[in-house]
Amino acid sequence: HMLISDGIRASAGRTPDRMALRESGRALSYARLVDRIGRVANLVHAGLGLRHGERAAVFSANCLEYMEIVCGMAEAGIAAATIGPAAAPPEIRFICEDSGARVMFVSAALEEVARASAPPTVERFIVIGPAYEALLAEASSGPCPVEVTEHDIFSVPYTSGATGRPKGVQLSHRGRVLSGYAMAGEHRCYTPEDRAVATTPMFHGAGFLMALTPIWFGGQVEILPRFDIESLMGTITSFQATSAYIVPAHFAALFALPEAKRAQWDMRSMKAAISGTAPLPQATKERIVGYFGEGKLFERYGTTETSIATSLGPKDQLRKQACVGLPYPATQVKICDGGGVAVAQGEVGELWVSSPYMFSGYLNLPEATAAGTRGDWFVTGDLARQDEEGFVYLVDRKNDMVISGGENIYPREVEEVILAHPAAAECGVTGAPHPYFGEAVTAFVVLRPGMNVDAATLTALCREKLSRYKVPKEIRFVETLPRNSMGKVLRRELRARLMAEAK
Ligand code: ATP
Repeated sequence: HMLISDGIRASAGRTPDRMALRESGRALSYARLVDRIGRVANLVHAGLGLRHGERAAVFSANCLEYMEIVCGMAEAGIAAATIGPAAAPPEIRFICEDSGARVMFVSAALEEVARASAPPTVERFIVIGPAYEALLAEASSGPCPVEVTEHDIFSVPYTSGATGRPKGVQLSHRGRVLSGYAMAGEHRCYTPEDRAVATTPMFHGAGFLMALTPIWFGGQVEILPRFDIESLMGTITSFQATSAYIVPAHFAALFALPEAKRAQWDMRSMKAAISGTAPLPQATKERIVGYFGEGKLFERYGTTETSIATSLGPKDQLRKQACVGLPYPATQVKICDGGGVAVAQGEVGELWVSSPYMFSGYLNLPEATAAGTRGDWFVTGDLARQDEEGFVYLVDRKNDMVISGGENIYPREVEEVILAHPAAAECGVTGAPHPYFGEAVTAFVVLRPGMNVDAATLTALCREKLSRYKVPKEIRFVETLPRNSMGKVLRRELRARLMAEAK
């Protein structure tokens, strides 16, 4: 059986005194990390009486303790139901109720909101800090007497609930471990000599994996509690990091900075700048290659349910436009029509994925699991096409498609055109209700500081590059775009805004 903490324990066996994790100036060696993982396992099992197969909640921003809490609970067969630090009270309550958590590990900063929001079924709050340390000190660090298998659930991140109630995505030890191995093969930046910076939120499936994989292979990780472009870039420079997961919103923040600012950081240590979770505009890719150097940019596509499904390596970044690459190792993809029949090569259809990294169903939701899967396949809800070499192009999310005058418009295509203009820093395209067209393509644009462009110029650019019906009927300049915790532009919120105005 492959358990997550086995990998960390193996690293500790080889290099006990080496620093494994660091956050805000606090560090843990491998020996201390596995000692604390063992104590958490015994604390939840013997001390708190949680039983194999149960879940406990973790509600915190990224911190040093996050890793040992989730891995330690998993050694006792308890899956972490992870709650994002910005979760609103109803979400906190919902996740606690749905997961049946009797215990919540919570950061001191969130204790008050946790106590005010959690349902009475949460019997115990363990506040990270002195109270937690005291419990760890009392707990045994010896083996936890629970037989855990690789098919047991390691963690349960929740979807945001854009389409109905949030769903708990059950991720097994096996899926996470194999995903980590695939990442190591793909990105070649996870050896004991490597150093990674983890800045994306650890409550999210991808965010956790990016902090976990480096230490599974004996490397070192600096965890940043929150995203801030200057601390991310400063940390890469001072830590001489070899990899970092940098989502498109982070890159947008980087390139919105003045040139002189960017010049102070040194990216020479980096082997892999890994992007994912949202579309990376082609114009940004070019800037990344220019800034980080050639041979370093990887882009990946995946979902919480499938884990990573495709990846585009450095040599194809500029050759393949708006492409998310080839299927990940041991991953199969197919592109289907509404009836589940594979479309002809080159045609747009819905992307299905099958791999050993797949989730183990949604918690408490057999119908939703059945609706989202077809045998071993997961139906992603993303529209895609494949070229003659098998490369996958993500056209857009099915739900974000705009239908105007009976024509289907994929927002991403329009966003790409606008973002090619040097003054456009960020862009989100959606549909506004329209009496004649049904929906009217509408673009929201954030300008790069100190630069300007007017709507007429951007419209003209769109006319040049796009069919008439795809050209935005309106372009609005805004200060910021609504984004989720992974920095993903929430087009559905833009759409809701336009619908509210039309009422
Ligand atoms: P939720 O389900 O919580 O509402 P979500 O669908 O964004 O949010 P995730 O599983 O985090 O949940 O994200 C998966 C989606 O992110 C994919 O279906 C795809 O639309 C998008 N995505 C991921 N990687 C990429 C990428 N490289 N390029 C474009 N889109 C991507």
